[in-house]
Amino acid sequence: MTDHIVIIGGGPGGYEAAHVAAQLGAEVTIVDTDGVGGSAVLTDCVPSKTLIATSELMTEMSTAQELGVNFHDHHGDAATAISVDLARVNARVKQLAADQSTDIAARLDRDGVRVVTGRGRLGPDLTVEVGEETLQADAIIVATGAAPRTLPSAQPDGERILTWEQVYDLTEVPDKLIVVGSGVTGAEFASAYLALGIDVTLVSSRDRVLPGEDADASAVLEDVLTRRGMNVLGQSRMQSVTRDGDTVTVTLTDGRTVTGSHCILALGSVPNTADLGLEDAGVAVDDGGFITVDRVSRTSARGIYAAGDCTGVLMLASVAAMQGRIAMWHFLGDAVAPLDLKKVSSNVFTSPEIATVGWSQQAVDAGEIQAEVVTLPLAGNARAKMQGVRDGFVKLFCRPGTGIVVGGVVVGPRASELIHPVSIAVAESLTADQLAHAFTVYPSMSGSIAEAARRLHRV
Ligand SMILES: Cc1cc2nc3c(=O)[nH]c(=O)nc-3n(C[C@H](O)[C@H](O)[C@H](O)COP(=O)(O)OP(=O)(O)OC[C@H]3O[C@@H](n4cnc5c(N)ncnc54)[C@H](O)[C@@H]3O)c2cc1C
Repeated sequence: MTDHIVIIGGGPGGYEAAHVAAQLGAEVTIVDTDGVGGSAVLTDCVPSKTLIATSELMTEMSTAQELGVNFHDHHGDAATAISVDLARVNARVKQLAADQSTDIAARLDRDGVRVVTGRGRLGPDLTVEVGEETLQADAIIVATGAAPRTLPSAQPDGERILTWEQVYDLTEVPDKLIVVGSGVTGAEFASAYLALGIDVTLVSSRDRVLPGEDADASAVLEDVLTRRGMNVLGQSRMQSVTRDGDTVTVTLTDGRTVTGSHCILALGSVPNTADLGLEDAGVAVDDGGFITVDRVSRTSARGIYAAGDCTGVLMLASVAAMQGRIAMWHFLGDAVAPLDLKKVSSNVFTSPEIATVGWSQQAVDAGEIQAEVVTLPLAGNARAKMQGVRDGFVKLFCRPGTGIVVGGVVVGPRASELIHPVSIAVAESLTADQLAHAFTVYPSMSGSIAEAARRLHRV
């Protein structure tokens, strides 16, 4: 008998689960309100990384003169500045996101997955209600994602006070942008808009940007951002954001005020778990409203799984997708390994980028794991010198005795690509010697990863 899987939410948690379920022969229905791809494709990852592609280009062009390239206008006069056409950037962002959603829908269609547009809600006895329709399931996955957190005292108006979902409606370059929140999202937008030539103030309630990341990495980032002209306000907790005409005022809890033309709120996310029928279905949530799951994505209700941001396990598209796949491998009886957060690699798409995998410096310092640490600045790398790259480093952690690589941090351009060999080492429990013995291209930034591994060699 064919199993029927019903998935509420068409983001990476939902659509990746659908592919696995279809591959394993199940009949699959996805219920989604906004279009497949979810926030990941329509408002979060894909749009922000497309915007950041433009800001990366602007950053690279800022080293042009050092590398011997001059710009001139059509009269042959030296050009002293480059500028961005934000309307075109945002039009490209929206088109690319829409195209990506269409691609995902086409692939789901090829896999025979039915997509129902509407709001899904859990009904009794493993059913999902969408408008008038009731879908009977053998298993359900809730993958409804999360939404930007706002405060009563800081309400977005969609024009000058913006959530990260609203920034792509900007058609003119902000004169003075205030980003509230120095977590990953706040840091990425602050870094991106600074690179586009915008005056940016970053309001951070903590004493450093990216408080959750490697402290050495955030120190490098903060140094670069302030050197490039960003105003970083540490230990500055926002109390309210108000607008008067063209002016936005951020008032801090100590009474100071910061004014600008626009403000982006990056205050974290709240799970989309209200009014889903969770309680009646016996699905437990924590105090923050996140659905409680185990490492194979089971909720407290039999036959109901949950994946992605609505679980709050680790708010990444890659983790959402893996939770969704694991749920289906588990329910449909395929080989499955429980989710292992110590193998997740992630990246902060600032300039420079910060990529991490495995155990962190914080965990080592707190004595949660014993590890030897080597940090190698990128400035000594031949390729970095050729490319005018001065900021960044490679850091590796390995177990004393066995030399097994348990984590790493890469700070630099395209760190998201450079972290992969370290990810493989962590996933496969390779030793630092094994990582060191693999050839790297000369000259290459990845040479610094092999060099750091060589320095971890013990006789
Ligand atoms: C600005 C920003 C940038 C990011 N960049 C990255 C990145 O570079 N890399 C990365 O790995 N992660 C990134 N993330 C995180 C990533 O976007 C999320 O982890 C990911 O979207 C989670 O996927 P999901 O499937 O849980 O939910 P979502 O992608 O949010 O999808 C959930 C879907 O469910 C729908 N839905 C909600 N309720 C219902 C309902 N009742 N019925 C039907 N449908 C419903 C929603 O409309 C949505 O379409 C970023 C996040 C932000 C905010």
